[in-house]
Amino acid sequence: MKVAVVGCLHGELDQIYQEVTELENRNKYKIDLLVICGDFQSVRNENDLKCIAMPPKYRKLGCFHKYYSGEKIAPFLTIFIGGNHEASNYLITLPYGGWVAPNIFYMGYSNVIRYKGLRIGGISGIFNHHHRHCGHFERLPMSEDTKRSAYHTRHLEAFRFMSIKKPLDIFISHEWPTNVVHYGNLNYLLRVKPWFSADIQSGKLGSPMLDALMSHLKPSRWFAAHLHVRYEAHIRFDDGKETKFLALDKPLPRRKYLEIVDIETSNSLTDDDFVNDDNLYYDKEWLSVLRVTDEYLSIEEKPTNLVPELYTPPRLDMEKELISVEERFKGCYKIEKSFSQNEPVTENGDSDPERIRNFTNEQTETFCAKLGIRDPMSMILNENKHVSNPEEISLSDDEEDEETTVTNVTTTDSDFVEENSEIPSKKLKIDTKQEDSLVA
Ligand code: 5GP
Ligand code: MN
Repeated sequence: MKVAVVGCLHGELDQIYQEVTELENRNKYKIDLLVICGDFQSVRNENDLKCIAMPPKYRKLGCFHKYYSGEKIAPFLTIFIGGNHEASNYLITLPYGGWVAPNIFYMGYSNVIRYKGLRIGGISGIFNHHHRHCGHFERLPMSEDTKRSAYHTRHLEAFRFMSIKKPLDIFISHEWPTNVVHYGNLNYLLRVKPWFSADIQSGKLGSPMLDALMSHLKPSRWFAAHLHVRYEAHIRFDDGKETKFLALDKPLPRRKYLEIVDIETSNSLTDDDFVNDDNLYYDKEWLSVLRVTDEYLSIEEKPTNLVPELYTPPRLDMEKELISVEERFKGCYKIEKSFSQNEPVTENGDSDPERIRNFTNEQTETFCAKLGIRDPMSMILNENKHVSNPEEISLSDDEEDEETTVTNVTTTDSDFVEENSEIPSKKLKIDTKQEDSLVA
């Protein structure tokens, strides 16, 4: 299998598709799959830019909209995870993944999917201590705060992977696991990025959540981005398993942002699961994971202690949920190519130019109904219905006069860092003042 891997995309789809096509022509081979490790920027029109966390001078429409509208078709099957610069209003409608354009698949907050012989896992976002225990509460209209918290990886999403027992061929993240720098040429890294030194010494370069995932999953390959430098590492585990880590840069002249990786189709899939066609497939074990962890899903901003520590097994039984998955999917795990333009941005225009209304995504609704799990956005819409129409809806006892408090967490712009500037590492201004919530 030939997999093309890109670090951060920053909206440069046209350029990448052109370069991969040139590589194919020059080397007389075919690419099976293109993997993009975040900062994808699936911006459908100028209005989506209102929901992207990014200083105004970097905010640009890019070329994704042509793939969304159908003016262009992605020439390779493309999968991506979210980074810290995303059209969050669009991606929050696809928490479990889905097509953002024909042939372009977003993995969602976390996912494991199958393609040809490969089992591929991925997690979106970057680590942030203050939001990791919050629910998926972000909704429209988005504030400067929620534009940022939206891409902070939740503990729930990492927790889901701890029930994965079968081997993964590829894992994709935007950040690097914190420890990975010690398994490659660290001297080289410090030579090209000397300002990483302090963070490396204090163990803060990257995500501690991803360390736990790497030790548990031990995937054959791990692809990452975000630090804007190519870096290779080779991690050998006590049980003899190995992970080859590769981080890539972003598309700038003379940078190493694109690589073609040959991957042996593994024996991780049983004959039963192996389908050699061009479709993506759901992974049974992951579907069971989504069922056993659904009870921990929250749309509250208030941090919840619902989700157990990593390494604690979920309350529900995986084996039992696997049977339920098999009954529901009846042997048909193909991910249908069911992209359609979704409100607010359809061929006929944009029904919400100010980006204030919330929409569900049909792909998510269909998937959730089939698997029997909840969609955070549908929960948000239901909650809003209760708030705006209190007289029409009979509230249950516990919903009546509900007064919740929220902790107002204000993030600075420090998740965005100017190239080659020293990052004031992940500073957060926490306003612990308790405010009445909007539910009044
Ligand atoms: P982005 O493209 O996501 O806005 O910014 C990524 C930039 O932030 C890169 O230049 C990367 O080197 C820097 N960066 C990200 N995380 C860290 C970190 O934990 N420590 C340091 N020193 N720099 C970081
Ligand atoms: Mn980034």
